[in-house]
Amino acid sequence: MMLLLLSSFQLVDHSFMPERALITQIKAAIAGAISGAFHVRTLAEQYGIPVILHTDHCSKKLLPWVDGLVSASERYFKTHGEPLFSSHMLDLSEEPIHENIEICKEYLQRMSKIGVLLEMELGITGGEEDGVNNEDAAQEDLYSKPEEIYEVYKALTPISNMFTVAAAFGNVHGVYSPGNVKLEPKILDKAQKFITEKIGESAPADKKPVLFVFHGGSGSDLQDIREAIDYGVIKMNIDTDTQWSYWNGIREYEKKFHDYLQGQIGNPEGATKPNKKYYDPREPLRSAEKMTVQRLEQCFSDLKCQNICGLGEVKAASNVAGPRRGGLPV
Ligand SMILES: [Zn+2]
Repeated sequence: MMLLLLSSFQLVDHSFMPERALITQIKAAIAGAISGAFHVRTLAEQYGIPVILHTDHCSKKLLPWVDGLVSASERYFKTHGEPLFSSHMLDLSEEPIHENIEICKEYLQRMSKIGVLLEMELGITGGEEDGVNNEDAAQEDLYSKPEEIYEVYKALTPISNMFTVAAAFGNVHGVYSPGNVKLEPKILDKAQKFITEKIGESAPADKKPVLFVFHGGSGSDLQDIREAIDYGVIKMNIDTDTQWSYWNGIREYEKKFHDYLQGQIGNPEGATKPNKKYYDPREPLRSAEKMTVQRLEQCFSDLKCQNICGLGEVKAASNVAGPRRGGLPV
């Protein structure tokens, strides 16, 4: 299973932005995400790869962006019986918890009708990502309490069980030198036990009522990752490590062919030799992709998700000759 994350978009500084400019940017971001979704759907079928299309952190002021994507999924659902996007994350962790939960309830009501999963954030992820800076967050805010997770569970479960919780257990976006990040996956275990006790009979057989998401997976110890999975984590985000692998591919390429990349003509093989095939941007980008594939393979192994999706023989794609899923926009 391949999981693709579409980041929300970065605005330079919202506070100084005239409202119309913000609306224009949101419209463009909606169009960009929808365009990406159709592209991925079209190609995924060609490769026979099951894909989950998820969007990451969306703060309160960017909710109109998710509104546009949910509307697109509603339109798509009418024709295809499935949503365009699989899942959206709302990051309302900057708001008071009751408001965070109330807004999530509204969205879950709308999204669960068309089979879209909601990921909500509780507590905060430290570090910096997509222009959201929590580098100076108070230590206690980096760890969610079982009572808070239970509040979310109680509020959302009656609507639908199609939600996940990005609870804070010391997670940090970014990679830092050892000793600076203190992950406490046991917080998730405590919460599962607390909620299992509260809900008694209605607890699931595995006693893990909550589906958790692990933010800031980059640079994490394998032991912490495996422990988090045992406590009910079903999804882990890595961004920083894939940013590095992508960049590292470009860096290695430039190092290897440095003397062929200094002008259009002239390299160590001769002053009149053309360099076109070296500076073609597709070459360093391919190198970046290869490095990223390696990093993702490691990630799939860390998360114990290799060869478990039951993919059989790849069937001939049916969207070649005409519109089916993702063939043409609706
Ligand atoms: Zn995150």
